[in-house]
Amino acid sequence: MAETLKKRSEVPENLKWDTSLIYKTKEDMLKALHESTELSLEIEKKYKGKLTNGQIINECLAEYEKVLINIGYVSEYTSLNVSVDFTDAENKKLDSIVTSEYMEAISRLSFIESEIADAPEEVIKEALSTASIAKIYLEDILREKPHRLSAETEASFAALSETFNAPYDMYEQTKLADMQFPDFEVNGVKHPLGYSLFEDNYEYEKDTEVRRAAFKAFSAKLRDYMYTTAAEYGTLVRSEKIRSKLRNYDSVIDYLLFGQKVTREMYDRQIDLIMEKLAPHMRRYARLLKEANHLDKMTYADLKIALDPDYDPKVTIEQSKEYILDGLSIMGPEYKELLEKAYNERWIDFAQNVGKSTGGFCASPYRKGSFILLSWNERMSDVFTLAHELGHAGHFDACGKAQSYFDTNVSNYVVEAPSTINELLMAEYLKEKSGDDKRFRRWVLSSQISNTYYHNFVTHLLEAAYQREVYKLADKGEAVPAETLNEIFKGVLRKFWGDEVELTEGCELTWMRQPHYYMGLYSYSYSASLTISTQVMKRIRKEGAPAVEDWKKTLAAGSSVDPVGFAKMAGVDITSDAALLDTIEYIGSIISEIEALSK
Ligand SMILES: [Zn+2]
Repeated sequence: MAETLKKRSEVPENLKWDTSLIYKTKEDMLKALHESTELSLEIEKKYKGKLTNGQIINECLAEYEKVLINIGYVSEYTSLNVSVDFTDAENKKLDSIVTSEYMEAISRLSFIESEIADAPEEVIKEALSTASIAKIYLEDILREKPHRLSAETEASFAALSETFNAPYDMYEQTKLADMQFPDFEVNGVKHPLGYSLFEDNYEYEKDTEVRRAAFKAFSAKLRDYMYTTAAEYGTLVRSEKIRSKLRNYDSVIDYLLFGQKVTREMYDRQIDLIMEKLAPHMRRYARLLKEANHLDKMTYADLKIALDPDYDPKVTIEQSKEYILDGLSIMGPEYKELLEKAYNERWIDFAQNVGKSTGGFCASPYRKGSFILLSWNERMSDVFTLAHELGHAGHFDACGKAQSYFDTNVSNYVVEAPSTINELLMAEYLKEKSGDDKRFRRWVLSSQISNTYYHNFVTHLLEAAYQREVYKLADKGEAVPAETLNEIFKGVLRKFWGDEVELTEGCELTWMRQPHYYMGLYSYSYSASLTISTQVMKRIRKEGAPAVEDWKKTLAAGSSVDPVGFAKMAGVDITSDAALLDTIEYIGSIISEIEALSK
């Protein structure tokens, strides 16, 4: 464990992000918030009940956009400040006051969308024909019209929306508040245990006894909450099924894919092909892990360990800048400028301090740069995390500049492509730089597998395969009790890992660990994004400038294109198996090279 953490106030400025890029002061933020409230009242007065022709709709949307943009700034400003220090009661209080004011404004303006949606088709089309912003927004409303219910029912649904989200809230409470993990003991030594302690540390622990004991203790605690969690999840699945039926969808899966603009074929392809074709490669990788770490056997509890746990290249923040600028220089001078800006204007929060949110994210308030949260551990793997988050920053910088606020709402299917491509480009760059240093090269290759591909093509994909089975049962009207969920999850693991990995008791409870299930069909989309980014990376490495130009245009397109159109702009066809099969081959080739280097 690290030494005692600093308080936020003790962290040097240069390690913190600079939220004054959004508002100079708290007072400025509050002023903007009150102005938004005022504007929402004016809009209500001026337009409520009057959205009856195209011109008025477009006028109203232009005003509405202003409110949404400003509320976006206000909410980012306060929630970013909370995320770096949950112990700061003042910031938390401010955030909740602000949130309730802007939520009120948003619900006051909810009439806009419902009035447009309830307007006759000709009126929406008229608005579309003269729209200068929000074209896709209007098209989407038109597209959803056949699934829209009567105005009264929609209003009831809206009023009940909080209860539709209740399963997720309960899941979080069970997981983060109720579940308390006791210490566990190995050879007379006690070890503390917690949810993120397990997922961020013990799963990667190189001491096999400690790692396996941690898994056992963690699973035992999960099991105490198995029935509660299954009830929460089951309620969600039921409610989604009911809503999908009421909205006239044959299947709950179609209902959940509709908003992503993804066909059933595209969805099934990711799951079916990866389950079948990637599995043999990953089993080879599991064997490599077992040999490299001299394990007696490979178990489910061992899958996250490093191939070379004693090798951990160190990088300072200053050096990371060189790596990032050099490694991504293939993207051209404009992109480089943005990366420099991210460092120079302090878009990145590197600090480790008490109360800071774990993990990493990138928030991009419309046309105001980006805010990247991470915990810098001076590891080379942090450079990959940073490259990833800067990929999101680059994406929203490009589409923010080019599109209206409404058209920056990117589909899950592609949203991780701009981030993962940066990881891949960094890896290619580091491989090139490795020269005769075979250990370093092997480290880069194994990080590609253990981080980039494992996370997106294995962890989340297996979750997706499980989730699809659950929804198939829901479509048949069957219940999904805990025992069924365990059985499905274990079945997916057995199918993927075969005899290569011993399925440790507790592996069947993995379905309890993912919040993604409460966010629709999310899990599968990681692999979809990474399929696109792998193909574009290969194109960029091969063709250089023309491929980079295509990619930049794709980034700028925002949500003005659907996933198929997005990939097509970047020169990738995702309507057939080819791109995915080629990506799986690429993963296989990395594993083959690791095998060769391990000899
Ligand atoms: Zn990401």
